Amino acid sequence: MIIILGAGPTGLGAAHLLNTSKQIDWRLFERNSHVGGLSASFVDDNGFTWDIGGHVLFSHYDYFDTAIEEGLRGTYFEHLRESWIRILQTWVPYPFQNNIRHLPPEALDSCLEGLRSQRPDFKKSANFREWMDAIFGEGIVKYFMEPYNRKVWGVPLETMGKEWLGERVSVVDLSRVQKNIAEQKDDVNWGPNNRFKFPKTGGTGAIFEGIARPFQDRISFDHDLVAVDLQAKEVTFANGRSEKYDVLINTTPLDCFIKKCVSVPGAVRDAAKDLVHNGGLIVGLGFKGKRVDPKCWMYFPEASSPFYRVTNFFNYSPFNVPGGDIKNNFSLMCETTYSPHKPVDKERIIEDTIQGLINTGMITEAERGRIISRYLIDIPYSYPVPTVGRDRALEVIQPWLESQGIYSRGRFGGWKYEVGNMDHSFMQGVEVVERILTGKTEITINGKL
Ligand SMILES: Cc1cc2nc3c(=O)[nH]c(=O)nc-3n(C[C@H](O)[C@H](O)[C@H](O)COP(=O)(O)OP(=O)(O)OC[C@H]3O[C@@H](n4cnc5c(N)ncnc54)[C@H](O)[C@@H]3O)c2cc1C
Repeated sequence: MIIILGAGPTGLGAAHLLNTSKQIDWRLFERNSHVGGLSASFVDDNGFTWDIGGHVLFSHYDYFDTAIEEGLRGTYFEHLRESWIRILQTWVPYPFQNNIRHLPPEALDSCLEGLRSQRPDFKKSANFREWMDAIFGEGIVKYFMEPYNRKVWGVPLETMGKEWLGERVSVVDLSRVQKNIAEQKDDVNWGPNNRFKFPKTGGTGAIFEGIARPFQDRISFDHDLVAVDLQAKEVTFANGRSEKYDVLINTTPLDCFIKKCVSVPGAVRDAAKDLVHNGGLIVGLGFKGKRVDPKCWMYFPEASSPFYRVTNFFNYSPFNVPGGDIKNNFSLMCETTYSPHKPVDKERIIEDTIQGLINTGMITEAERGRIISRYLIDIPYSYPVPTVGRDRALEVIQPWLESQGIYSRGRFGGWKYEVGNMDHSFMQGVEVVERILTGKTEITINGKL
């Protein structure tokens, strides 16, 4: 018996492949009464649809692309990924470093000066903060990299490693930046190959509802894992049910999972304490009125708003607003990080978000009066932070779990941010099942994309 814990993208990836075999006995247990995990969506009482923060589908995998097609059966829109940065009262296209020509003269000079005096050397830096200084120089770090990353991660940037950065942050080519300035050219990453799919109805969550439909009867909802008996190979849920397993695939947060296991060696327990995460507050605001703004999502590095990112969610599908009526409604989805290093007043976050939208010029004072829906989602686990000590901790935890017949995968099951998006997570689930069944080496969790 293979038991999967969690019906987010990772658990569903594992289930999707297991469902192709008639011989294997498997079940999936999920705490919530719906699938999707952090990639689920909700419709509020006023008819606005919300994701848990702006979810944009990037796929690196044919297998996942096929699963999406099966799940959505053509009922999606395709959009160009268009993202911008709001800074110094102006808009700079993403990636920031390639488009600094949009900055006011003083900031532009400072960014250029920093870039010119740089001799980028990846090896010289010991952590994320030092890496930034080494790659971007003083100006870009001061105006964008440092304040933005502090807002997103909510931890001191010196505590973060640099190994995870691989494909995540585009580095700088000074001659290209200078050419962009000379030619007054925008250097953006939303060319024709940067399209993303978004479901017509039901938000991002519709992808995973569609994928889960063929094996819905194998999923037991409202099952909150409370204990794992490693000796007896048995999981127990808050509702009192227990189930035996031969192999366990965990996709719930790894630090919590270790706490639920009986008889864990001290070294593993200690390593799990080194795993750091932040939390997120997603504020969805539904407005009466029409908004014309083609941007998909926007980054906000400055202190004038609590949020680090806002999505023009009404642009993704008209059905994200009541009755599909985007002539008379629009919706903004705003994400704020909280952590022990960055406490946020949850009672005030909706009001602070609205004020932040006004401060940054996103909405006018008059539009404050046209808000007809306020929706708050609190996610205690938002980003698995790639700290300096993360890989050391995982090297202690994961081999020990595998020696017990337990495979922990996914955004918080595997705790690797750099392979923690929806496509990576889904494929971590698929690949771990392939490994269990055929011995094939996993690619995604090992970072070999
Ligand atoms: C703010 C934000 C923005 C994001 N934006 C993007 C994006 O633009 N593009 C992208 O590709 N990805 C994005 N992601 C990442 C995406 O949400 C994840 O990749 C994906 O949801 C991870 O899937 P998972 O199955 O590993 O984990 P989860 O989605 O967290 O699923 C884990 C499941 O385990 C269940 N569970 C937890 N504890 C228990 C328990 N005790 N018992 C039983 N079940 C339990 C949960 O209820 C959940 O259903 C974003 C994430 C966040 C937080």
